[in-house]
Amino acid sequence: MPYSLPPTLSPSRVSAFTECALAFRFANLDRLPEPPAPHLTRGTLVHLALERLFMLAPAERTAAQAEACLDAAVAALRDDPEFSGLGLDAEGEAAFVAEARRLVDRYFTMEDPASVHAVGLELRLRAEVGGVELTGIIDRLDRTPDGGFEVVDYKTGKAPGERHERGRLNGVDTYALLCERVLGVLPTAVKLLYLGDGTTITCIPTAHTTRFIEQKVGAVWVTIQRANQSDSFRPKPGRLCEWCSFQTFCPAFGGDAEEGRRLGERLRAERGAERGADANVAGLHDEPLRFDDAASGAAAAAG
Ligand code: SF4
Repeated sequence: MPYSLPPTLSPSRVSAFTECALAFRFANLDRLPEPPAPHLTRGTLVHLALERLFMLAPAERTAAQAEACLDAAVAALRDDPEFSGLGLDAEGEAAFVAEARRLVDRYFTMEDPASVHAVGLELRLRAEVGGVELTGIIDRLDRTPDGGFEVVDYKTGKAPGERHERGRLNGVDTYALLCERVLGVLPTAVKLLYLGDGTTITCIPTAHTTRFIEQKVGAVWVTIQRANQSDSFRPKPGRLCEWCSFQTFCPAFGGDAEEGRRLGERLRAERGAERGADANVAGLHDEPLRFDDAASGAAAAAG
């Protein structure tokens, strides 16, 4: 039986489907939980710290304030499963935060935050593109001296090598397209700040590139719908398999994709039952599935 498809697509969902349709299914349709990954949690921390930094007046955006912003971000995230699920002891946490601090420090070698006119932080944009609602979060939207807009995206890794560059930069054009649809103006540039090595890549979006993205999003959406109707979300073994949380259920690794579907159904039913029991608790319906709960479910399914 076909899944009920998510009502929106994000740039990461588009690229997840393109990279491996089966991993997309496990994550977005079966909604199997994934354990927290240190590099993603570190990214969350650094993004939070820089967001707090840009909430300050320009003259206050100093390196010392950025350190304080990072400390506040750690305090805010410490009890979140994304952070606590890493299971760090005191020494591990110190090393983890020190690495995040290095990334925030490196940011100051790349631009002067006091000279930035930020008009949007963690901006959620949503627009109809290619027959589907496309959503995306822009890390920072700047106003340029000539009245234009620039999109800034922080990356906590290193800049891609030339061979992989184009593929990794497709998301950039998606942000530009969303900006154009929501703000009515194409940004003059999209800047990617690679804090891992201090590289800045600046892309200039054009009507041609955004048109290409619109066609691509539309084509991916049609392909997802077809795959759903014919139940043909196929594995695509490649470089991502090394980090994939779903190898246990992947036929390319001797697993059974149907087991993943059954586990997803059971976890969703359990979560639905919990919601029913607490239906009068505001906001519970948006609560994400906790990895601990699901990990015990996976063990039960495997047993
Ligand atoms: S292990 Fe590889 S092929 Fe299998 S679902 Fe994950 S990414 Fe796809």
